[in-house]
Amino acid sequence: MAETPHPPPAGFHVPQCRICGCTQNMPCTPRCRWVPDPALLGDLCDAHPEVLAPRPPQLLALLGDVAAEAIRRGVAWHHTFGDLTALPDGTASAASCQDAAEAILAIEDMRAEEETDWHALLSFEATQAMAQDQPQRLRRRLLDLAATAVLWAQAIEARAIADLPAAPPGHTPPEHTP
Ligand SMILES: [Zn+2]
Ligand SMILES: [Zn+2]
Repeated sequence: MAETPHPPPAGFHVPQCRICGCTQNMPCTPRCRWVPDPALLGDLCDAHPEVLAPRPPQLLALLGDVAAEAIRRGVAWHHTFGDLTALPDGTASAASCQDAAEAILAIEDMRAEEETDWHALLSFEATQAMAQDQPQRLRRRLLDLAATAVLWAQAIEARAIADLPAAPPGHTPPEHTP
């Protein structure tokens, strides 16, 4: 026997799945959860793999892995180096600024030739970050660096998925008889 749903106060937004219309009080069976809508059209529950499928390399799953790794490294480095917030940035040395300037020239050549690789893109972002001495600009560049690393990892996942043999959902391949 299900609990009687409490009626929400008037004017209160009740999340409702944009596809099946389920709500927190009246979820799908088996019980569903809210998931971020890849199309950003509204509320969405996880009972709709066909809607979630168009983005096989799940960016949010990848960012979750990044968060988990950041926590793991934070603990390990804190153990070794103490208070991580007290570490100096160590950026903007003459050598770092030189590297950054050279990397800008190199990436401009690559743009002109419309050819690059991930190593070059990530190295470029790293050199630009290492040359910053202004904290907000450094922070911005570090996020650029992290985003590029995530895109690279996403490309690796996408390639791995593309290499899988394709089988339409619900399709049972015919049995081969020798
Ligand atoms: Zn739904
Ligand atoms: Zn649902």
